[in-house]
Amino acid sequence: MNHKIFLFFLSVMLLLTFCACSTNRSYVSTDVTYSEPTAQYGFRLNMDFTETEHAKYYFEPTIENKERSKCIEITDDLLSSQSIDDLVPEIYIFSRERYDYQYISDQKLYTSIQDWTSVEYITNVLLTVYGERSHYGTIFGYGNTIAKNQKWDAYDGKFSKPAAEDIFDLSYLCFDRAFASPDDITAAKELACAFVESYNKQYGEQAFMQLLSSPEKALEALSAYYAENGITYTPSAVQYGCGGKSYDYLVYSDYGTFYIAKDWVDLHADLNPLITDGFLHTDYADTKAFFETNLKQMKQYQDLFALDHYNNDLEIVFPKSISTSNNSYYHGIDHRIYLYHIDSLMHEYIHSLTVMNSTMSGWKTEGFARYFSYYYDLYGIAMLNQDYNNTPNIPELQHIHEYSANINRPIDMAKDYSELENIVVYSRSWTSPDENYITGSSFVQYLVKQYGEKAVVNSIYGNGNPLPKTYKELVHEWNDYIETNYQNYSKYK
Ligand SMILES: [Zn+2]
Repeated sequence: MNHKIFLFFLSVMLLLTFCACSTNRSYVSTDVTYSEPTAQYGFRLNMDFTETEHAKYYFEPTIENKERSKCIEITDDLLSSQSIDDLVPEIYIFSRERYDYQYISDQKLYTSIQDWTSVEYITNVLLTVYGERSHYGTIFGYGNTIAKNQKWDAYDGKFSKPAAEDIFDLSYLCFDRAFASPDDITAAKELACAFVESYNKQYGEQAFMQLLSSPEKALEALSAYYAENGITYTPSAVQYGCGGKSYDYLVYSDYGTFYIAKDWVDLHADLNPLITDGFLHTDYADTKAFFETNLKQMKQYQDLFALDHYNNDLEIVFPKSISTSNNSYYHGIDHRIYLYHIDSLMHEYIHSLTVMNSTMSGWKTEGFARYFSYYYDLYGIAMLNQDYNNTPNIPELQHIHEYSANINRPIDMAKDYSELENIVVYSRSWTSPDENYITGSSFVQYLVKQYGEKAVVNSIYGNGNPLPKTYKELVHEWNDYIETNYQNYSKYK
């Protein structure tokens, strides 16, 4: 071989080696643990890891190189166009056979092989960097703009009044078909795209970018957009997210995150008139009402107690369905509520607000939670009302029938809880606040009547002064109060 030909072959070979390197990216095999919150589901897997300047990628080893390259190319391109400082998200791609779900948490996206140019995938990558709590509709509309610019499949995005008003929330976007018809989902997606296009046109991209990481600003802008189109509608502030394999969906809020397991059922469904078939799994209007109501109530409790500090990093888990009856509870170390029936959500929430400040037990814990849970608890009260208004006519419950006859209307526990609990304490001749939840609650009620809510809350959980009398004196007074005021009722021994 002459010198020139040798050099030619050498350069071709070098070029080939270079090409091979750039298309055949090198991977490092690494152990990955995937775990959904509260360990409902998880697995360990050896995955192929590689890194670019924009993201860390993990692929299940069975995924072909061609697929990986396409995913990396599109995702890197997308990330390079975002102003996200030094943020380097982690993208985990599984085969569909192993994990055909979506889950986003702490700048990590877990998903499976899919159309990398779809608006849905782009949206998930954007949520990974702008935060899973961002306003889904705004992020989706932005994802659509990106797809449109790339000339990929995109939605039209023209404003039109949807068939069902709830579509204005745009929350259908992250719900599966159990919640909405395919037409409704498409209508919500198109509306989201129309909103983003209109906002960009009117205020420019710079202003729009601020909406991405601020759900509050996005909601404000969306309401304004509806108003411009002659619609008076306030979009729900409840933010939903993908729940992976374990959960139907997650709900993000200022007061904690809710995790709704796919097969969660309320163990008191038969007792509670507000629980519909498929509750929290199929009906968007019911689901929205449940979260909006409870989030409002949670705020009311924080305002009412006015404690110096709340830990709003609370997890509220609606666990996998179980066949045996189980009671809801608050786990202090994990700062997590396990909810088996919604009527106890406010009771457990009160524990989560107060127990962390105290190691007390007895009436200060259970009496306190029971008494205050009557203040704001639409779902719990509905169940109690059904129960109290169907009291069996047996001697040990005679006092309840006597009370019903006195008030001459159905029992409404939102109004009647004070009297009824005192009557129960009287009828059973209970005298210790620590006897049970009812005596504890009746005692707290008595203290509130004497000293006001603020003084009682502060004396137990806040930094306030102790009540002006000793516990013994207060119990004695409470016993007298019960015996004097309820003597018209039957005693049962
Ligand atoms: Zn309790």
